[in-house]
Amino acid sequence: MAPVPIQVFTQAATDAPAVRAALLDWYDAHGRTLAWRVGPGASRPDPYRVWLSEVMLQQTTTAHATPYFLAFTQRWPTVDDLAAAADSDVMAAWAGLGYYARARNLLACARAVSGEHGGVFPNTEVGLLALPGVGAYTAAAVAAIAFGRPANVVDGNVERVMARLFAVETPLPAARPELKRLAGSLVGDERPGDWAQALMDLGATVCRPGQPLCERCPLTAWCAGFQAGRPERYPLKSPKVQRPRRRGVAWVLRDARGRVALVRRPDKGLLGGMLGLPTSEWSSATIEGPPPAPADWRDAGAVEHVFTHFSLTLDVRSGEGGGDFVWTPVDEALAALPTVFRKALERGLG
Ligand code: SF4
Repeated sequence: MAPVPIQVFTQAATDAPAVRAALLDWYDAHGRTLAWRVGPGASRPDPYRVWLSEVMLQQTTTAHATPYFLAFTQRWPTVDDLAAAADSDVMAAWAGLGYYARARNLLACARAVSGEHGGVFPNTEVGLLALPGVGAYTAAAVAAIAFGRPANVVDGNVERVMARLFAVETPLPAARPELKRLAGSLVGDERPGDWAQALMDLGATVCRPGQPLCERCPLTAWCAGFQAGRPERYPLKSPKVQRPRRRGVAWVLRDARGRVALVRRPDKGLLGGMLGLPTSEWSSATIEGPPPAPADWRDAGAVEHVFTHFSLTLDVRSGEGGGDFVWTPVDEALAALPTVFRKALERGLG
């Protein structure tokens, strides 16, 4: 990396207009084309599409979220359409995106916008924050991108850019308030939606995790991390806490017609309201418990899955039998099940 002469290096905070202009110019030329965007400088996008994309993108990559976004907007083109959808249809369409509480919040929010706001999203951060399931990040993103409000939109990408730009020595997660304040120092009234998306794009494509591509960055002249020669050091991180491991058993039961036995999970708790395979409890020690129905159960191996707060090893048993279940054709089950159960079903089918 070529060193920047010290005389051209300026603190980003003291030169916010120049930083904004440089990044917006870069965005006009290099911003990503995404299904939910209307392009730099174009008229504002539909708040419904912005909100839906932001909810889907939490903890999910743009590549993974895009087919879901296209499927949702084709099936439910407006917030009123989504509000009128059956819970089970939305949960099935969400399967594979993970973090299923978000799908329930999505429906609650759509119904609030449709029922209490006449199908029109509130156009301020405060108004958006009052909607069910809408947190600070989503409210800021929708306010900036859909309504042109100068909101401070800070996701993981933006945190990383700020940590490098200002060479923040406090490790994450303690640095979050400081990173948010620094990001706020750069927000201006000019093209706030494009600014938010430009920062996200810079973080995703140039100031990316690991080694940043500083040679392609429009902000090197203001970047303290670059100036110090080791931008990849930032953001500093506190030592990782090991995820606890749980174990359990999943039963893949098929009937004489080849359908698979599913159960509707309780509304509250992990994967609440979703269809799933019958399972044992998931705990630190394997508690197999009684199978859900009599069958000639066979050991089909195990699958691994990582949730936010724990890692799970599911031992899979397969067998044929009957009983009081939601009997579902295998193809439909594979399409509708959350990822952890889909993996277990595939293992059980051999
Ligand atoms: Fe990130 Fe490098 Fe740009 Fe600094 S110069 S913001 S480290 S890509």
